[in-house]
Amino acid sequence: MSLLPVTVYGDSILRETAKSISSVDDELIKNIQDMFETMRNANGIGLAANQVGLNKKMFIIDLKGVDGYDDFKPLVVINPKIVGYSDDLVTMEEGCLSLPDIRANVERSEFIKIKYLDTDEEVQEFEAESWLARVILHEYDHLIGKMIPDRVEPRIKQNLQSDLIRIMKRDIETDYQITERG
Ligand code: ZN
Repeated sequence: MSLLPVTVYGDSILRETAKSISSVDDELIKNIQDMFETMRNANGIGLAANQVGLNKKMFIIDLKGVDGYDDFKPLVVINPKIVGYSDDLVTMEEGCLSLPDIRANVERSEFIKIKYLDTDEEVQEFEAESWLARVILHEYDHLIGKMIPDRVEPRIKQNLQSDLIRIMKRDIETDYQITERG
């Protein structure tokens, strides 16, 4: 397994729509292992493939460290589709490994339904709520080229501008490796 540099705000791959995965082969399994190692090293709870420079429609989640999710089994989500959103919305503070030092309130559906492929290429579908729903929606956003600043009120986005510029200039410190300035 290897640690991969994390892409950050301004890297073009984070703005692309990820390509569907046609089969779970050895290369993809290696990608998944590297993503778990990279995410854990950075103390993240979710990571999308384009956050490590891979244009693949896939993300991983591990909520083990989160209150109330002690029994959480690490989740690998391939070619996801969000097939249901609740009208109930909740606002909570989010962070992102591709937006070091930024925290912002994001409004999202409290409940969702997701359909995806697991690593055995079996179709899975389940309903998620609370933190799991939020992390799924956050990671799904990455696969369609969206990030936290695209989901906040204009006023909040305005306040984030200087921090976003610092990230693009790499005028930041992280305790995990990030990509070099493009
Ligand atoms: Zn993120």
